[in-house]
Amino acid sequence: MTRALRTFRIHLAYPSRGLAARSHLLRNGKDSICRYYSAASLPSTSAVVVGAGPGGITVIGNLLEHGAEKQTDQRKLVWVDPHFQGGRVNSRYREVPSNTKVGLFVQFANEVSPFKAILKATPKPNALTTLQDLPQDQGCRLSYAADMCLMLTDGLTAHPQVKSHRGKVTSATLDERTNIWNVEFDDGGHVTTSKIALCTGSSPVSKTLPAIERIHQQSLEPVDLDLALTPSILTKTFDPATKTTVAVIGASHSAILVLMNLVHLANSTHPHLRVKWFTRNELRYAEYMDGWILRDNTGLKGQAAEWARQNLDREAFSNSPVSKIITKVWTAGKEEETYEAELPECTHIVQAVGYAQNPLPRFEVIEKDGTAPKPLHVEYDNLNGRFYKNIGSKLEHERIYIPGLFGAGIAFPERVTDPHGNVEHAVGFWKFMKFVKRVVPDWVKS
Ligand SMILES: Cc1cc2nc3c(=O)[nH]c(=O)nc-3n(C[C@H](O)[C@H](O)[C@H](O)COP(=O)(O)OP(=O)(O)OC[C@H]3O[C@@H](n4cnc5c(N)ncnc54)[C@H](O)[C@@H]3O)c2cc1C
Repeated sequence: MTRALRTFRIHLAYPSRGLAARSHLLRNGKDSICRYYSAASLPSTSAVVVGAGPGGITVIGNLLEHGAEKQTDQRKLVWVDPHFQGGRVNSRYREVPSNTKVGLFVQFANEVSPFKAILKATPKPNALTTLQDLPQDQGCRLSYAADMCLMLTDGLTAHPQVKSHRGKVTSATLDERTNIWNVEFDDGGHVTTSKIALCTGSSPVSKTLPAIERIHQQSLEPVDLDLALTPSILTKTFDPATKTTVAVIGASHSAILVLMNLVHLANSTHPHLRVKWFTRNELRYAEYMDGWILRDNTGLKGQAAEWARQNLDREAFSNSPVSKIITKVWTAGKEEETYEAELPECTHIVQAVGYAQNPLPRFEVIEKDGTAPKPLHVEYDNLNGRFYKNIGSKLEHERIYIPGLFGAGIAFPERVTDPHGNVEHAVGFWKFMKFVKRVVPDWVKS
């Protein structure tokens, strides 16, 4: 936004702010000006969706399906992302084998009418017809799902009711006198809305585990998990002629994929590469039960599960050719001494120990008395996709829900309980879709 335009808006907005606003402006100076607009004088939109990965795509599709854009005169949804490139599935996981069946990606793309309209309007062959041509009850490389995301993104950003904004949401301030949010972008622009959906995604935990940090082995070179999941880059990371030992930490789906990639390298281009696999858990597999899946979200599935069963399981390991490349190291109950004894032989380390939410925008609230904005600490309710104020109480009936703030996607998944009473977080395209379909009608009504 140009300086002239900002100034113009300030003059328009300022008189309606009253004394409280005026005094805050004086106290906090120029940087606070945007946050002090009167809601009525700002461009207003029905909802702001933050993030354009599979989670954001799902939410935009469902908001349009329920006519959420019609709630303001502008009849628009604002969609914000720095890239609009399908999120991490496209930017990081294109070479990763999927842990879900192709049929579920196809089902995802056909689930809401705005998506169906895009599929109909896109010349064939396209990303969806390519997916439809694959065996539906098997996995695929995630590049196929990523291409479908790109196709849906192209269609949704061209939708007359969607205004896409390339950039980041940096802050959101709720005015409790009106229940209107002022959402700020990293380019200085902003918009007001009654609804924000956070679909901001997660990234691998990169902080060194404390037990490893204490050992402080300077020569151990960290290899980024995303990179280790991408064979075409991983192959360039190690010198094929040099003796290399990679420590892999973890027994998650991602850890197994990394082991698969490293073993493939050792058997092809990098004969001097060896792996030490540090784990404190036995491998856990998803199990297909009668109409449901045990460990659906936490157990190994697809190609990773198949390979682990054949090569890594207790009974299979010693007879598998993989045991010539991988040394299994149990860490349970003796982590520090094990790392101390084993890590010095390693040249590189890959930590596959989970994913954590990406940083969220800063939240603030202007309370009913109209005084200066205060920090707003939010907690996610993973049963309904809403947020409540973190006021220290753990009691559900004391929750104070925050109007118009919602979440979905991998950072804000649904909590599900299986027929055996196991609780998990439901992560994956189709699960995002099922959850968002269930909760969006309430979001729109609220
Ligand atoms: C290794 C791995 C394999 C997986 N395999 C499968 C699979 O086979 N099948 C399946 O269904 N699921 C799979 N998933 C799970 C899931 O579908 C993906 O993780 C998916 O990328 C999550 O989508 P998302 O939109 O929630 O997050 P992301 O893809 O991370 O997208 C978040 C987006 O939000 C943007 N953003 C963040 N902060 C801001 C901000 N402040 N302002 C604006 N934009 C912002 C980011 O730039 C990004 O574009 C896998 C996950 C992993 C980690």
